[in-house]
Amino acid sequence: MTLHIHDTLRRAKVAFAPLDPARVTLYVCGPTVYSYAHVGNARPAVVFDVLFRLLRHAYGEGEVIYARNITDVDDKIAAAAEREGVDISAITSRFAAVYEADMAALGVLKPTLEPRATAHVPQMIEMIATLVERGHAYEAEGNVLFDVSSFPDYGALSGRTLEDLQAGARVEVAAYKRHPADFTLWKPSKPGEPMWDSPWGQGRPGWHIECSAMIEAELGFPIDIHGGGHDLIFPHHENEIAQGCCAQAGAAGYARYWMHNGFLTLEAEKMSKSLGNVLLVHDLVEQVPGEVVRWALLSAHYRAPLDWTGELLEQSRRTLDRLYDALRFLSELDPAKTSANLAAEPHQGVLQALDDDLNTPLALSLFGNYVKDVRLSVQNSRTARENVAEALAKIAVTGRLLGFLQTDAETWFKGEADADLSEQVEALIAQRGEARRAKDWPEADRLRGQLAALNVEVLDGPGGTASWRLKG
Ligand code: AMP
Ligand code: ZN
Repeated sequence: MTLHIHDTLRRAKVAFAPLDPARVTLYVCGPTVYSYAHVGNARPAVVFDVLFRLLRHAYGEGEVIYARNITDVDDKIAAAAEREGVDISAITSRFAAVYEADMAALGVLKPTLEPRATAHVPQMIEMIATLVERGHAYEAEGNVLFDVSSFPDYGALSGRTLEDLQAGARVEVAAYKRHPADFTLWKPSKPGEPMWDSPWGQGRPGWHIECSAMIEAELGFPIDIHGGGHDLIFPHHENEIAQGCCAQAGAAGYARYWMHNGFLTLEAEKMSKSLGNVLLVHDLVEQVPGEVVRWALLSAHYRAPLDWTGELLEQSRRTLDRLYDALRFLSELDPAKTSANLAAEPHQGVLQALDDDLNTPLALSLFGNYVKDVRLSVQNSRTARENVAEALAKIAVTGRLLGFLQTDAETWFKGEADADLSEQVEALIAQRGEARRAKDWPEADRLRGQLAALNVEVLDGPGGTASWRLKG
């Protein structure tokens, strides 16, 4: 099966074919770097990371150009810099680094390109000048605005008409706007904000133009896939299409497929700073391995809403513990690690689920079942045991496609435990195993208590095996 994706613009699931059959371009709106990313912000990063991995599998690693921008000029950044009394660049470089580290903890691969808005201001100015020249934008009181009535397709992505937008306009629309939906391409900077020279005076670009200018500069029009959160459909992506199409001489188009992830709620409420219910990735990955957060994020279909709960996180942790336990059991049967040198294809069911509009809930469940089945058959059959290296290679390749089980099982369970503690724990577990085999239950319980006092959780596997981990 070839990849099918749900295209927001066509409102249907369609077969994906890149403009150049051998190369794919993907752009996803990235973070505004003024503070820590919350787990909702991580959802698009993780979802489009799976798409990136899938496309790389299909087209080859060097043939997928994935750009995720960094918005480093914005009102909120300027406000944060003023609050702390530091330069804007101190805020943006700090939080860009935090974002990168947090996403890496979630197993998100580095995109091919991470263009910064402030490095593309000349391209933005050039695009705005073209729009003015072509009669799609006008200057008013130091601002340059896009004239939405000059683009007949305005509203096609979000399903709005200019009449709806006129009727729904709030009273406080600036008097200089010809239509309430006309949006800012350029504006004068407020005191303390960064500013650049332009044909319209000193100022700074609006938000929407950033992405279009970076797409043109880094990938070229039209790109294959444009992604982002559902909230970006209107006005951000609607405006990107309008300005991006109008700035071009031909009718090449802007983005050939649009994909949007659904929103994440926290215990059924909108995650918002004003409600005080924001879960930061930075804090979460201190409490649990990032892979657990990734599993939880991919447990729902990307277009569906996802309700984040403590139970979801706990369940994801238990699932991954079981998978790592199986991985450890299987790895011990391949001590020479021959599986590392074997070529393998990913599990076909998993690949098909991903090809069907990134059905990650199905892909995760098939992957989990496959690992469990391999373990069971290896326990029960000699033939399966002889083929354990092949099975391990398939698990590794499928895991890589999804971004899971890339850690050594020993590391997963022991985490940061030092060598002395590990030795002590292993000894206690061995004694406990003997006590259990001798059916000396009080002694087994006493040893379990000792392990608990060391903050160790013992995970009993099938056939008397036991693994352990430090409690988070
Ligand atoms: P921002 O840094 O606010 O520009 O957001 C970065 C990305 O996170 C955008 O693609 C948003 O659509 C997305 N996003 C923000 N909040 C959530 C949420 N609660 N659930 C899912 N995606 C979100
Ligand atoms: Zn954008």
